[in-house]
Amino acid sequence: MTHDLHSEGPMPEEILEKMEKYVNPGRARIYRLLGMDSVEWYGQGSTVRDTAGKEYIDFCAGYAVMNAGHRHPRIVDAVRACLDRMGLSTKTMISPGEVAVAERLAELLPGDLSMSFFSATGAEANEFAMKMARAATGRKNYVATLGGYHGKTMGALSLTAKGSYRDLFSPLIDGVEHVPFDDLEAMAAAVDEDTAAVVLEPVQGEAGARVPSDDYLAGVRQICDDAGALLILDEVQTGMGRTGANFACEHWGVVPDMITLAKGLGGGILPVAATVARPRIFDIFDENPYVHASTTGGNPVSMAAAMAALDVLVDEALADSARDRGRIVLDRLNSLRERYPEVISEVRGLGLLTGLAFTNPSGGLMVLSELFDRGVLVIPSLMDWTVMRIAPPLNIDERLLERGLDILEEVMADLAPTIAELG
Ligand code: PLP
Repeated sequence: MTHDLHSEGPMPEEILEKMEKYVNPGRARIYRLLGMDSVEWYGQGSTVRDTAGKEYIDFCAGYAVMNAGHRHPRIVDAVRACLDRMGLSTKTMISPGEVAVAERLAELLPGDLSMSFFSATGAEANEFAMKMARAATGRKNYVATLGGYHGKTMGALSLTAKGSYRDLFSPLIDGVEHVPFDDLEAMAAAVDEDTAAVVLEPVQGEAGARVPSDDYLAGVRQICDDAGALLILDEVQTGMGRTGANFACEHWGVVPDMITLAKGLGGGILPVAATVARPRIFDIFDENPYVHASTTGGNPVSMAAAMAALDVLVDEALADSARDRGRIVLDRLNSLRERYPEVISEVRGLGLLTGLAFTNPSGGLMVLSELFDRGVLVIPSLMDWTVMRIAPPLNIDERLLERGLDILEEVMADLAPTIAELG
């Protein structure tokens, strides 16, 4: 790897001061507090370098976005080739990219999930799914799960149960009930003839890689069918190979009525999201083609990135790679748990969506901060800060993966006694 790309740009402190002034003072404070005041500059594969030339092993992939690694050459080339020809869409002429990606998604997704609407973010994909569920069923209510994370726009936030994200913004969308995840009895009690849709993640990502019991997803499918409600699976984080299958619902052979995708769909290069539905759900576009729309959704450049990301997913068998590397990670995390039971309460995960639950929330943050210092990037879980997540690119080199895990082991050996004292 070359080391000739250091920035001549401003120093971290200068940027943090401007972040305080122009972007988000609280975030600037967190960077300072955790000693994570480095500026990202160069990413390639599973490593990132800061402006000072320090290299980091990327164990978070931008919150499960760079499934194919940073700047995968095939995806970069596809986007460059598109840029040489077309940027965004005229919106007056036929845009072939969105049709091609929709067709490819229909081929790859299970069952008859075949109609796609494209946007940019996971929250937008969920907003649209919520609207479509009401239109398709004529019903108003939703059932979501505690710990589920679906984004922070008004509708998506209504599905996201965490109070500290919601309290300032109420009233949110009416008629959303939250039930415990992985609890079929609670789900059955909540779903009725007024339920438009059940919305959940097959594996809860931001709750800290929570994997349900084997019969859960099929059970929810049955409950929805019995009540005439739709099942929307939010695979914004679990999709695109992350859990060891192209789409996590495939682990349990369950086909939802709608699936939402984002993050990895843009190949780590561009923001791309999709809501993919069974055909009849899109019938409302027959009546009114503009009932829902996005000016930039499905644009040529984003679609070039998405098509290349799907090609890489399949051709490079990223899901298999996630499954195999996920086993390595879980084995190493489980052995850490055996060694430090007073500090690590649980190890969770499927594929390369894995989490290490600490007995004390500060424990996870201390480890995260120390790992950063020693050149490994990991992430906390937005819905449960006790869980530190390891979610690297799915094609991370195995030696690099082991090296990062060795560093985690060293950090645990150094910090476990202090964390244990926190109680
Ligand atoms: N759904 C899930 C499962 C997510 O993990 C996220 C983001 O982490 C979202 C939705 C929201 O996606 P975005 O931040 O792109 O709006």
